[in-house]
Amino acid sequence: MERRLKSTKMPKIDLKNLTITKAHAAMNAGDFSAVELAQAYLDSAAAKNSGANGGPGINAYLEIYDDVIEQAKEADARFKAKKATLLTGIPFAIKDNILIKSRVASAASKMLEKYHAVYDATVIEKLKKEGVVFIGRANMDEFAMGGSTENSAFGVTKNPHDTTRVAGGSSGGSAAAVAMDGALVALGSDTGGSIRQPASFCGLVGLKPTYGAVSRNGVMAMGSSLDQIGPFAKTVTDAEIIFNAIRGLDPLDSTTISDKTYSPKKSDAGAGTKPVIGVPRHFLGGDGIDKTVLENFNESLEKLKKLGYEIRDIELPNIGYSLAVYYIVMPAEVSSNLSRFDGVKYGLHVDGKTGIDDYFETRAAGFGREVRRRILLGTYVLSSGYYDAYYNRANAVRRIITEDFNKAFEKVDIIVTPTTPAPAFKIGEKTADPVAMYLEDIFTVTANLTGMPAMTVPSGFSEVAGGAKLPLGFQMTARHGDEATLFEVGKDFMDESNSTI
Ligand code: GLN
Repeated sequence: MERRLKSTKMPKIDLKNLTITKAHAAMNAGDFSAVELAQAYLDSAAAKNSGANGGPGINAYLEIYDDVIEQAKEADARFKAKKATLLTGIPFAIKDNILIKSRVASAASKMLEKYHAVYDATVIEKLKKEGVVFIGRANMDEFAMGGSTENSAFGVTKNPHDTTRVAGGSSGGSAAAVAMDGALVALGSDTGGSIRQPASFCGLVGLKPTYGAVSRNGVMAMGSSLDQIGPFAKTVTDAEIIFNAIRGLDPLDSTTISDKTYSPKKSDAGAGTKPVIGVPRHFLGGDGIDKTVLENFNESLEKLKKLGYEIRDIELPNIGYSLAVYYIVMPAEVSSNLSRFDGVKYGLHVDGKTGIDDYFETRAAGFGREVRRRILLGTYVLSSGYYDAYYNRANAVRRIITEDFNKAFEKVDIIVTPTTPAPAFKIGEKTADPVAMYLEDIFTVTANLTGMPAMTVPSGFSEVAGGAKLPLGFQMTARHGDEATLFEVGKDFMDESNSTI
């Protein structure tokens, strides 16, 4: 170990195939140090993030930190002192709406371009205790509103699999950072699909935990009844490791639930059998779904069948209303949550003529088009006279959708759909049509509305004209609090069943 650290020759680290468990074992054995690992990711991130020197200009990071090596040295000291945990020295990308004390957290908005966080988010506090290494802050759609990272005030994130296409959103930077080997894993936030959709577009595992499983303290609020923080990783095992590190009851978020609160019931399949898989076929027949996505989905079902899973058709009679309900509830919460950006307390301040003009001018200058659109929509659905017609009705339907899922979960343990209706689309393809962009979320919003955990796993590729191979994702939703079954089936699906944590 000592000899290696002194040596000036950097070990060649196979970043493509690296996982948390492999990196941990290698650092423990002294095959490479946390500093060497961090340097390898920094080199890769530097080569790919910017467009300078012929680089692809992925723009996954809005900032790559200048103290990464310092952080990694602390991780090495923990290894030396035999105090390392599984996550010690593991390089993370963090979405730019999660607070890390003293660092900029902009939510990819001009409003917060120069804002420095004054405290650590609970998830960050937990990761710091483990001694992880933060590589940088990842690009996103402004305030997490969007599905392509094109709403970032600081430029789009390109998909590392095909740089003419989006990486997805809103956590596109987190997904691209991992897919371009600019970090081993990442954190994102998911209000309507913002972890799962970019993970699917970039060929990764992405988990939206049960509402309340992970503290929201220190993530900038978008839709408070929908938001969750979750991991991006290359394997289900890695996602599980991160989930276990960040979950848990937190006095600073009263909606959090204890790890021990839930012991989900199983379906009627009987003890000892594999979880039963449910398919809402009636929801998969629409025109909006790409043919290759459906083919790939059916192949995924075949794969599960071969692995010995029973597949049952299920009915979710009201799932078709999910998108409409989401696009009422979410903007209502957005309009309320974003009222705090008033140009007075923190963030951007633009001088108007009078006090109230300051407010208008600041919000007009600080917020981009999509954010303003949602504030307007939200204010509308909450206004007197429309509150009952839109907001209350949406909430009632939200409850009915949840009941549909609860009923389906009496017969099955996991409900599966494609993660997205099509693979990654071209940059600029949907920017002129907000509704086309909203339709991207058709399969993902339901898990946020019901609060249930959902995970996407890579399920293969779609070949498109021009020769690029675009990743596709397979989404699994489980009962409230039942991430364990997601991990079990996900590992089986990805052939990680023998992996040990
Ligand atoms: N694409 C969805 C939206 O635009 C999801 C956003 C999110 O999960 N933060 O609202």
